[in-house]
Amino acid sequence: MEKKYKYLIDHLLSTLSDNDIQNLKAYHLYYLEIQEELNVWLRIKLDHHPVFGEIIRSQPDDYIDKQSQISTQLQYDAIFNNNWEPYIVHQVKQGINYARMGIEFYMWHDVIALAHNFILPNVSQNVKLESKDKMAILKGANRFFDIAMSAIAESYLDESKAIIEDQKKKQEDINKKLKRALAVVEEKNKELEQFAFVASHDLQEPLRMVTSFLTRLNNKYKDQLDDKARQYIHFAVDGAARMRTIILDLLEFSRVSNTTNEFGSVDMNELLKEVLQLNSKLIDEKEVVIENNELPEIYAAKVSLQQVLQNLIGNAIKYQKSGAKPVIRIHAVETEEHWQFSVSDNGIGIEPRYFDKIFVLFQRLHNKTEYTGTGIGLALCKKIVEHHHGSIWVESEPGDGSTFHFTISKQLSNQI
Ligand code: ADP
Repeated sequence: MEKKYKYLIDHLLSTLSDNDIQNLKAYHLYYLEIQEELNVWLRIKLDHHPVFGEIIRSQPDDYIDKQSQISTQLQYDAIFNNNWEPYIVHQVKQGINYARMGIEFYMWHDVIALAHNFILPNVSQNVKLESKDKMAILKGANRFFDIAMSAIAESYLDESKAIIEDQKKKQEDINKKLKRALAVVEEKNKELEQFAFVASHDLQEPLRMVTSFLTRLNNKYKDQLDDKARQYIHFAVDGAARMRTIILDLLEFSRVSNTTNEFGSVDMNELLKEVLQLNSKLIDEKEVVIENNELPEIYAAKVSLQQVLQNLIGNAIKYQKSGAKPVIRIHAVETEEHWQFSVSDNGIGIEPRYFDKIFVLFQRLHNKTEYTGTGIGLALCKKIVEHHHGSIWVESEPGDGSTFHFTISKQLSNQI
């Protein structure tokens, strides 16, 4: 016999007074008389019960009768011979079975109410009992349900505790595995970044040579070359220039994680001014209208945030309907954990199915003749924002402008 049952029995017995035992005896004797009738009646009543009905229909009648007999015998033994152990163990098993089948304990109240309503009128009608005896039977019935319920509830709690413990342990194991996997991913990421850095850094030199010698070739021999040859050289120089842009963008991308030591206080109003200053020629040329509300001072890596604003504002100017004047709004709001910024434009917009794709490295929705670009800008923004424990997303309607939102954690000064 398990220790918990022993504890349960001692615990329950200590709550029974002599009077209770007398009441239980009176109740039990009366119950024996009406047991068969009560069982038939309960079976009819509970047949349509949402949960008990299912159980009753799924079990043969003789099985239910047998269970009832066993339980009555155990009750008798408990009350008259003070042998509570088998009765409580039986109750607990029944209860756990019910609990496993999804019956919550409040359902028992239905049974109690039914038995109560049935027993009491019967007691009054059929048996000539003194009113104190009627009360004793009532109290005995209540006490029995109390005991049965407590036994089941306690063991149910025990079982729940065991399940919770088990789940906790499993969760801890999963967390450990996740941690290990994360460490591997971080290591691989570092290696990739290192690779991207070295590759893009080292590629610059040969590329410079290609451009430089092609330019020299053009300068020195242009009179000897025909138009076709000059056009080929032009294409080659143009290709090299584009490759240089990609390499420089990639270099920026691989540098993001190494900006931890550049964190400090950044006045976003000042930063915006600097970005607009850097783009002043383009802004004047395209007659761009810029609107912004008062932006906050935040804790961040300044150069990185400048890149984010630069990319988002650059895109807002670039992805415009031809002939339209860009109107760009830059806003900031404070949420509980983040600063949330948004850059919205009145440009060509984006189809919802591309909302995720555009943040992936090298993913572009247009070819270079429509709109120039490398497909690195938004991936870079995403990486920077995530490095600031935030996220970035877009809201847009094709033809009706786009709004890019990004968040920056307010807790970075504590974490970095
Ligand atoms: P790039 O601009 O170099 O192509 P990005 O990573 O900055 O690369 O953007 C990825 C794609 O997302 C772009 O090719 C473009 O199709 C789309 N996009 C980005 N910003 C906007 C915008 N403001 N309006 C419409 N489309 C945009």
